Amino acid sequence: MKILVINCGSSSLKYQLIDMEGEKVLAKGLCERIGIQGSRMKHEVPGQEDYIVETDMPDHSVAVKLVFDALTGEHGVVKSVDEINAIGHRVLHGGNKFTQSIVVNEEVKKVIRECFDLGPLHNPANLMGIEACEKVVPGKQNVAVFDTTFGMTLPEKAYFYAIPKEYYDKYAIRRYGFHGTSHAYVSAETIRFGGLDPEKAKVIVCHLGNGASISASIGGKAVDTSMGLTPLEGLIMGTRSGDIDGAVIQFIANHENKSVDEVLNILNKKSGVLGMTGISSDFRDIEQAAEKGNHMAEVALDAFRYRVAKYIGAYAAAMNGVDAIAFTAGVGENDKVTRRLVVEQYLGYLGAKIDPERNDVRGKETLISADDSKVKLFLIPTNEELAIARDTQRLTK
Ligand code: AMP
Repeated sequence: MKILVINCGSSSLKYQLIDMEGEKVLAKGLCERIGIQGSRMKHEVPGQEDYIVETDMPDHSVAVKLVFDALTGEHGVVKSVDEINAIGHRVLHGGNKFTQSIVVNEEVKKVIRECFDLGPLHNPANLMGIEACEKVVPGKQNVAVFDTTFGMTLPEKAYFYAIPKEYYDKYAIRRYGFHGTSHAYVSAETIRFGGLDPEKAKVIVCHLGNGASISASIGGKAVDTSMGLTPLEGLIMGTRSGDIDGAVIQFIANHENKSVDEVLNILNKKSGVLGMTGISSDFRDIEQAAEKGNHMAEVALDAFRYRVAKYIGAYAAAMNGVDAIAFTAGVGENDKVTRRLVVEQYLGYLGAKIDPERNDVRGKETLISADDSKVKLFLIPTNEELAIARDTQRLTK
């Protein structure tokens, strides 16, 4: 069975064709600048030179057509579209309607549309991707895999905001959590790789990338997660502030003569380690600056690790214990210093001990804790595309 995984942004489309026998990536690529001058597609097949197409892509349908042409044409990996069994789509927000991935029909599309308000940057693009596939390859099953479904098992005490209940009733304002596909995949993989109890294992997953979030799960089911109604809440990120006193929004709006929307844009796109340092949203740049003695770069990294540690502490308390902590995503998979400092500076009271030699690793499933650590520590690379493909296979078999 071959599954095409699609992740649409407003002007981009990322894809992977995965052969589910052996879970091998046959081809992957990226269409950029859709609807903007200078559109371009990069198509990669392992062992072959990259195939670049520079042509107008006025909308997502044209991009999807190019993707199918690339997959089946001269640089292709399948003879015809018929060999592709189904398409899995990453969809950001499923509101409180979807507790699982689902095969797309008119009703599903309606709900994705109703959630435009909750995911204004992503949901419209995700729906465009689905509709483009319906147009270009009619009859092929499309599956929507939501970033929010992992958070749907949160208990009420974890997902209710302490604001008037009418806002939940009217607008479904609650904590949802994001990076759900990654948290679900990594927590399951931690249990499998670590040989933990699949029903009872208490696992904390630290997804530390440009966007960053932490989840607590028991037996692979989320009990808490750090992002909220939107991905703004929780950790300090590349460009997002994470947790903040709401009054800061009012203060900046009043003093800088800005609207709430403008301030939210600052909190989402100009804050985090970028905002604190004025240097970059990329953690490698911040680390370089810190090494050269830039004070705010040091503070930003310190604050980032401190917030991670506070969430780990909170989630260990929420679950009344923790069996394993897994690090994943760009920083979590590649940055041994961040992993070591989080554990050594803050997690001693849990009996967590990192093994520096085991921790000297990148992007590979590894036990990084010492043998006498009371909590198992892991590096588990995330694979959201594979998680989407697995769900798509399960629902369309
Ligand atoms: P992601 O959003 O998961 O793709 O992660 C992207 C982030 O990972 C970037 O901001 C990089 O700063 C960070 N990253 C990648 N490699 C390293 C590394 N070796 N050390 C520190 N940060 C890294």
